[in-house]
Amino acid sequence: MSLSAVRAALSDLKNCQTDIGTGMDIVTDMAMDLAESQKAQGDPGIKAMEDIILECAKLDREINCFSHIVERVTSEVGREPPEAMFSLSARVKEQFAEKMASLSDTELENHNKVVAFKDSVANTLNQAKPGTVEDMEELDEDIAVTQSQVNFSCPLTQIEMVNPMRNKVCNHYYDEEAILGLIQTRHKQKKKCRCPVVGCGNTDVKQSDLILDQMLRRRIRNQKRDGNRM
Ligand SMILES: [Zn+2]
Repeated sequence: MSLSAVRAALSDLKNCQTDIGTGMDIVTDMAMDLAESQKAQGDPGIKAMEDIILECAKLDREINCFSHIVERVTSEVGREPPEAMFSLSARVKEQFAEKMASLSDTELENHNKVVAFKDSVANTLNQAKPGTVEDMEELDEDIAVTQSQVNFSCPLTQIEMVNPMRNKVCNHYYDEEAILGLIQTRHKQKKKCRCPVVGCGNTDVKQSDLILDQMLRRRIRNQKRDGNRM
């Protein structure tokens, strides 16, 4: 196996991982629909979807670990004599098995999309107060109006957010890619990341404080869709 073949396979795997992420967003959307109509905690359908999300999170984590190990081992092999290439596959297998054995399923609860799923379902259930269907529709419209007054644009990119993340500490929203990039840049400079929202006193934005807001994501997307339809 050549190094370029390894790189091509890794890139295929990354694409696969993106698809898993998209699939998880779709399942979360479906769970929110169900939560809106069922208004019941512990719905078997929602539970089944939670299981799917956990399975996907597990797969996502495995791909992360695997890619990481392959990258590390290939760079090691690159520094060794050419015949070291023959041990590549065995070394990856061994290290991957070791890593997998050290992981627990409980850690999956911290996966960002698992957190987002639970958060979104819980929020939907809280919002879906019992009432007639008409009431529900009115409520939905009310929320839509309130939400459209909320700024959908990211304070960093100034454009409409695609994957809004809420900061648990100061309740500000940012687009995922932009805020994670900023945190990474600041931390590389050994500096704290200040909340980019003007006037916010939060001087240390951490990745662990951020939750993907699937409900808002959906609202932005629906608004865009409705806007296109008009
Ligand atoms: Zn803030």
